[in-house]
Amino acid sequence: MVRNHQGQRKRVSRKVISQIQANCQLWLEHWQKLLHLGLWQFTIEMHNDIDYWASIEYEWDYLRATIKVSTDLPIEAAPEVILHELLHIYTGGVRDFVLAKYGKEVKPIDKQQMYNLNEACTSTMSHLYFELYKRLAKTYQENQALKELLKGGVLIGQTDKPETPHAE
Ligand SMILES: [Zn+2]
Repeated sequence: MVRNHQGQRKRVSRKVISQIQANCQLWLEHWQKLLHLGLWQFTIEMHNDIDYWASIEYEWDYLRATIKVSTDLPIEAAPEVILHELLHIYTGGVRDFVLAKYGKEVKPIDKQQMYNLNEACTSTMSHLYFELYKRLAKTYQENQALKELLKGGVLIGQTDKPETPHAE
């Protein structure tokens, strides 16, 4: 989960919502390959009633997952947020395995600590990985497609900038 640090929710037009969703989908496909999640089936759902930017529900048994994305996710946050949610499949997978096997012996306070550590671990990894990724990409600026992708929020091959979310 990535928490929404903004206070008040914004109302966002359908057009902007579909741009955010398309952008999330693009980054999802990009990270999916790099994270070896090619066999997984993903669904991105846009929600206007969640008080966080994104969360993921995954099923290791069926290799499928649903990523819930807030309709007021700033489009430039999409790359790192999607990466963060995908990493949860691994970090949460470890925690879930331990809890499924030994959950009865784990005290609630320790369970909470496992969830907190999972979140901290996922946030640190996604932030670090994305920072490294951006720096590496800067050294390959001749790669125009990647450069466009890294502008944050701009779709590959799309020349005009997407609308920024606005109040209606
Ligand atoms: Zn998270």
